[in-house]
Amino acid sequence: MIPAPTAPESDALFARARAVTPGGVNSPVRAFNAVGGTPRFIRSASGAWLTDVDGNEYVDLICSWGPMLLGHAHPEVHAAVSAALARGTSYGAPTEAEVLLAEEIVDRTPVERVRFVSSGTEATMSAIRLARGFTGRDVIVKFAGCYHGHVDSLLAAAGSGLATFATPGTPGVPESSTALTLVLPYNDRAAVEAAFAEHGPRIACLVTEAAPGNMGVVPPEPGFNRFLAETCASHGALFVSDEVMTGFRASRLGQWGLDGAVEGWRPDLMTFGKVMGGGFPAAAFGGRADVMSRLSPEGPVYQAGTLSGNPIATTAGLATLRLATDDVYAHITAAGDTIKAAASDALTAAGVPHVVQSAGTMFSVFFTDPADGPVRDFADASRTDTAAYAAFFHALLERQVYLPPSAYEAWFLSSAHDDRAVQTVLDALPAAAAAAAATRGDR
Ligand SMILES: *Cc1c(COP(=O)(O)O)cnc(C)c1O
Repeated sequence: MIPAPTAPESDALFARARAVTPGGVNSPVRAFNAVGGTPRFIRSASGAWLTDVDGNEYVDLICSWGPMLLGHAHPEVHAAVSAALARGTSYGAPTEAEVLLAEEIVDRTPVERVRFVSSGTEATMSAIRLARGFTGRDVIVKFAGCYHGHVDSLLAAAGSGLATFATPGTPGVPESSTALTLVLPYNDRAAVEAAFAEHGPRIACLVTEAAPGNMGVVPPEPGFNRFLAETCASHGALFVSDEVMTGFRASRLGQWGLDGAVEGWRPDLMTFGKVMGGGFPAAAFGGRADVMSRLSPEGPVYQAGTLSGNPIATTAGLATLRLATDDVYAHITAAGDTIKAAASDALTAAGVPHVVQSAGTMFSVFFTDPADGPVRDFADASRTDTAAYAAFFHALLERQVYLPPSAYEAWFLSSAHDDRAVQTVLDALPAAAAAAAATRGDR
């Protein structure tokens, strides 16, 4: 169901954009392909609200896919960035801001050394190269439904058997790029054990989202990350925990704060992005000092970046992390709990089967049957009713609520989501649930 366009300026820009950019967007999910309709072109944002080029306002439940933990145009972040801008935007030489941000990340996470890059893709790509360089091994293990950026070797589809190598997940990735990748079902200990039993001596690393958010939120079952860390350790492989989404977001200490910090283990390598850039292109990978010391120029594993540690991006990230106190996470948790409960109540009242899942402050609503149990892996997530989600999405958009334009994404809040923003969502939910229910009647 594609609703009548209600955003003529966005429509006009989308038409122009498609003439000069594939699909009219610079990252596919923005195109609304999964829900239909015209993407809104955003003119400005402040706090919890987005304003599109037609002047429509929306409560933002995406927060730039996670980064805007403090809301948009936060005055203190803005002031820090403005001051940095006046001092020049890039030097290609080290700066104090890089040291301060690295110290902040080393303080707040189990990593001992950190290297900055410009995107999460670069962070995981580099972490895998380092893991291979450190171990002298070539095989990598990932989970179906976990997204780690568009790294060739990780755009992989599961092979035909559990311990068989992957095939390319997209045209443009050669067989040779995925021939050393094993793709396993998430939360499946037996599959991990089988893969390590068969290929253990060749496995350089296992990479996982610390809590998957890129197939909707599918939390690790209790002890799963610890099991992964221990399995890697016992086979001489590195455990790479991708916290690009969850870092400084799922909790103040990321997903690691919810399991590793409590259970007393730590990943060998971690990746960060999104929140740590405060809305600018900044990401990082880091970990054990002995592993990180293999990285160029200290060690032989090459890695570099012209804009890595950019002074504006690091200033924004540092300001954001310094403002990300326990109060911020408490606020986001409370606002999220209110919205989750209201969404579930509205969907229950409308008779729409659904499952709400969380990882710390992140959550999403799956349009799956609760009788089938929780969503544990990508196969479960794939059962979500995407037509019901699309109707739900558009009914909310018409009522000033901007959800992720895909059923397989986390919903994100910020410390700027105040009572007015939350109430706008609550007021819109019953009609959206009814719209989702109507699609079920159609079938
Ligand atoms: C967003 C994301 C990435 C990729 O980051 P980009 O900055 O988009 O390249 C990698 N891993 C995870 C878990 C992510 O959520």
